[in-house]
Amino acid sequence: MSSPVWHAFTQHGLREPIPLVTHAEGATLHTADGGRFVDGISSWWVTTHGHCHPRIMAAIRAQTEQLDQLIFAGWTHEPAETLARGLIDIMPAPLAHVFFSDSGSTCVEVAIKMALGYWANIGAPRHRLIVMESSYHGDTIGAMSVGERGVYNRAYAPLLFDVDSIPFPVAGAEQATLDALERLCRAPERPAAFIVEPLVLGAGGMRMYGPAVLREMRAICAAHDVLFILDEVMTGWGRTGTLLACEQAGVAPDILCLSKGLTGGSVPLAVTLAAAPIFEAHRSEDRSRMFFHSSSYTANPIACAAANANLAIWREEPVRERIAALGAMQEERLRGLAGHDRLVDLRRCGTIAAMEMAVDDGGYLAGLGPRLTAFFRDRGLLLRTMGNTIYVMPPYCIETDDLDRIYAAIGEAAERDWA
Ligand SMILES: *Cc1c(COP(=O)(O)O)cnc(C)c1O
Repeated sequence: MSSPVWHAFTQHGLREPIPLVTHAEGATLHTADGGRFVDGISSWWVTTHGHCHPRIMAAIRAQTEQLDQLIFAGWTHEPAETLARGLIDIMPAPLAHVFFSDSGSTCVEVAIKMALGYWANIGAPRHRLIVMESSYHGDTIGAMSVGERGVYNRAYAPLLFDVDSIPFPVAGAEQATLDALERLCRAPERPAAFIVEPLVLGAGGMRMYGPAVLREMRAICAAHDVLFILDEVMTGWGRTGTLLACEQAGVAPDILCLSKGLTGGSVPLAVTLAAAPIFEAHRSEDRSRMFFHSSSYTANPIACAAANANLAIWREEPVRERIAALGAMQEERLRGLAGHDRLVDLRRCGTIAAMEMAVDDGGYLAGLGPRLTAFFRDRGLLLRTMGNTIYVMPPYCIETDDLDRIYAAIGEAAERDWA
């Protein structure tokens, strides 16, 4: 019997097998037919400490005995209050206010609305946004508008709003990126904000750039009074080696987007953090200046309890040591692949390792990606390539043996004839 489920980013017409997962722990997924898979991409970049971390599961269970859901306009609850304070404690100092939502896309929408709301409320309306080529910020209309255009949003292009784009800072040509940003910041129609993923452009193909560029971009925005929005939905929570990627550049944004690892990857939740001027521009005795945004599940108590458990894990377990150890293991294994001619542009940022498979196959949809993904699935590995880009982004608790299996399979794929 065929399933009525319409899967995300899945071409059902190809009838590729869809494994049925029953339970998981650490970096291991178990399927109904007794199969075991290594989760090499943290279930699409969300699972940080491993699946079903006992502390997060216990926090969720406990919260379900107390309060399931509450309107968050004009009402509040302890899990949200505790979480907001806990976040402010560990996030860069200028970020003083926490707005809750429920996905990466939504917290980006919130960030864009906050930026435009800021300029409107201080009486100097601005609407233009600056973005970086190859960026991904989510799949809702606003988030797609600030992301890279391509086959995945072509049908909706007429609805996407115009933005100004700067080139990706390719190594050795960083100045061109900075010059472009400077030029756009000086444009007569002043931009409201620049939004960017720090250090690693995830869905754009795990493209990596250094902290010095990030620091320069931040300085240019500050010099020209353009709000600086960081989308750390993927890079946050240790992926790049530090809690936030922006720490490595010693900079803080005006607005910060977080989701994915916020609950350790257990249940959906997102936050948009804002510096005081953004909040103050909305605070008034005039109701028409309030921030007009809400979703039904804003600050869901069960999700907040999971996020509080995540913060406790960061405070009390050796998470930073695990991240450093995983980074070192990734580095060593990447070096081990250096002998394969077909694997090029081997790169790493913190716990994220990526490379290109040099096979000419005609682009994202033409075929190598899904075939590689199937090749890995047949070997008990959850890896999802993006076009020719292979990347490894496991939960921080992955066992050495499992990481070795991933790299052995990548090596095997590199020697195979894919023509
Ligand atoms: C995944 C991602 C998003 C979107 O998050 P969803 O929860 O899938 O909506 C936004 N920005 C970045 C950088 C992401 O990697």
